[in-house]
Amino acid sequence: MKMMKTATMAFVTLVAMTATAHVPALESFETKPILADLKDLRALNIPVLAKDERIEVGYAIVTPVMQQRIQERAHQVGKCGGFEDLTLDMHIQGTGFNSILDSLAAIQEKNALYERAPFAALSLEKNGTIEAAMTEVSEDNLRSYVTWLSSFPSRSNRDAEPNRHVVEMKTRLEAMLAEATIPYEISEINHTSTKQRTLKVRLVGSERPNEIVVLGGHLDSINQSWGGGKTAPGADDNASGSANLIEALRIMMTKAQPKRTVEFFWYAGEESGLLGSAEIAKQYKADKKDVVAVLQLDMTLFPGSGELVIGSMTDFTSSWLRDYLKAANETYIHARIVDDKCGYGCSDHASWNRQGYPALMPFEATFSKSNKNIHTTRDVISPESNFKHSAAYTKIALVMGMDLANSTARQPY
Ligand SMILES: [Zn+2]
Repeated sequence: MKMMKTATMAFVTLVAMTATAHVPALESFETKPILADLKDLRALNIPVLAKDERIEVGYAIVTPVMQQRIQERAHQVGKCGGFEDLTLDMHIQGTGFNSILDSLAAIQEKNALYERAPFAALSLEKNGTIEAAMTEVSEDNLRSYVTWLSSFPSRSNRDAEPNRHVVEMKTRLEAMLAEATIPYEISEINHTSTKQRTLKVRLVGSERPNEIVVLGGHLDSINQSWGGGKTAPGADDNASGSANLIEALRIMMTKAQPKRTVEFFWYAGEESGLLGSAEIAKQYKADKKDVVAVLQLDMTLFPGSGELVIGSMTDFTSSWLRDYLKAANETYIHARIVDDKCGYGCSDHASWNRQGYPALMPFEATFSKSNKNIHTTRDVISPESNFKHSAAYTKIALVMGMDLANSTARQPY
């Protein structure tokens, strides 16, 4: 059965490549250096060129067929992304990749030390303005944003028109931001690894504009079902997280200007190896930007572990921010937070974490209970979609944008 699947997989990939041969999506024909979950690489018999057993991450150079198989496996086990494209680090040869793995392990170790330390739990002081903002989150708005985004046939970075939805969303955000009462900038970010662009909105900080709180999610979608056509509505993955961010921006833009800068990102090409976020995080590190926290919202619509049960991913995220989430939940959100893991490269937070920035990944459920219809034509709004559940993730973004961005708190390690 497994052999059959593999053979079918290769065939489908070849068919797909032939079918899109006239589309100038060069990235799909190249071998790539990647970081991925060691278990996934081993299960697929992909040669691992360097690895770190402590963090279960491996480095490999993969062909397009291997990439497809990793994405397919990630899909089978319920992950959104499956690997991080390291093409930008191509200049690092041989043991250079060991240093990437070593620094990843060192980041994980610092987080583990913090977790073991006997600190008092974090708590937030309740603020009336933030509490009032929680009540402004509209489930109807979330539904209408998800309906609109999932109406595009595909938002894939390998689509013939990979920026149609990006351009339309920028137009919509500009119309919305016309009502903003605080200074903002909106821009599209070009990438070298994909033709798709990332959309960014920056709310400039009033007192410490160089300190940045990032609120992000990927805007692209993908269809990985075998022979299932190319339609990729991606309602849960990730129109939902994208909608949470639009709603948080709508509410924040008429409130007091935050002391720190808040940057919203709708990333390009996450499904093809975290392409947009990897370039952005790498550039921010090179520019020595002071990113104090990164929120990643990717899949928030399917309450697989129960309504208002949030999976907080503990691998390749900041222990401090996970504590912060628990405190924010206690004070403002009133959901239930359950710790879980999703493996390396399951979403864009991995890009920021690898550059040393503190990241947080609250997910729609525990990993094993998440939506099984992602990456297929069936990822549409259904009776199981729960906008009350999804609204909690906009509230997380609001607390980070209105509390953390008005404080001096930062990761203490
Ligand atoms: Zn996703």
